[in-house]
Amino acid sequence: MKLFFTRDKWRGYRESLEETLGFVPTMGALHNGHLKLVHQAKKEMGKVVVSIFVNPKQFNKAEDLINYPKTLENDLRILKAVGVDAVFLPITSEVYPKNDTYESALPGTNALGLEGDFRPGHFEGVVNVVDRLFHWMKPDTAYFGQKDLQQCMVIKEFASVKYPNLNIVTVATERENTGLAMSSRNMRLSEKGREKASAIYEVLSRLKDFPQEIQWGINYLATKDIQTEYLEPLEIELHTEAGLMNRAWVFAGYLENIRLIDNIIYYR
Ligand code: AMP
Repeated sequence: MKLFFTRDKWRGYRESLEETLGFVPTMGALHNGHLKLVHQAKKEMGKVVVSIFVNPKQFNKAEDLINYPKTLENDLRILKAVGVDAVFLPITSEVYPKNDTYESALPGTNALGLEGDFRPGHFEGVVNVVDRLFHWMKPDTAYFGQKDLQQCMVIKEFASVKYPNLNIVTVATERENTGLAMSSRNMRLSEKGREKASAIYEVLSRLKDFPQEIQWGINYLATKDIQTEYLEPLEIELHTEAGLMNRAWVFAGYLENIRLIDNIIYYR
């Protein structure tokens, strides 16, 4: 497995590749959700590169950035074990140089509402870094998790204009046996908290069939010490491995001071 710390070194390698290239951008603290993206990329593409970069620009709270789990050694061990070809590990000044002239794309209308409301500046930060990474890595296909549903929509929106030849794949959410969506942030939950957090998927699954029960959902989550920020139905148009999805229920909230998001998508 090759490690790249600079764009320059990466460029040389990229130019030498004859196979198709799959790209999985991450912020590290890897778990089986990330690996699901990697496995799909490996199945579909000749070579796979994973980036690990904790992007300061997408954290709207300094405290969240400081507390974000960092497990680099373990991440590299895992990526090597699953047969990733290359890892891009830039330092912050490599992505955002001092005299920065890169003209980054801006998020479109898909960034309005939900995360866009509760995390001001978040999608500007996401698009800023993902645009740079697309530009430098030059993948044929990039893989994103449905777990961050609005992020998938925002990325597809800007990339369809700036990178029309880039294929963007949305990969279904990997969950614990309890239904809890895997997330790097789960590492910060207590064992009890992880049990309680399974209520989120329970509520989303119920709302899919009983949409009038939002208030029940919010109250039920509160009995598990989960404070809901939003719990809403959403109309979407998302092509997934399982086909076209046109409906979603999306959730964001806090448990043990940790912000958790999840969603379910379906066709009706
Ligand atoms: P992150 O490191 O949190 O930025 O996530 C990197 C990528 O992994 C993003 O595309 C996420 O949507 C995706 N991802 C995170 N958690 C999961 C999960 N439980 N299942 C599938 N994909 C995930």
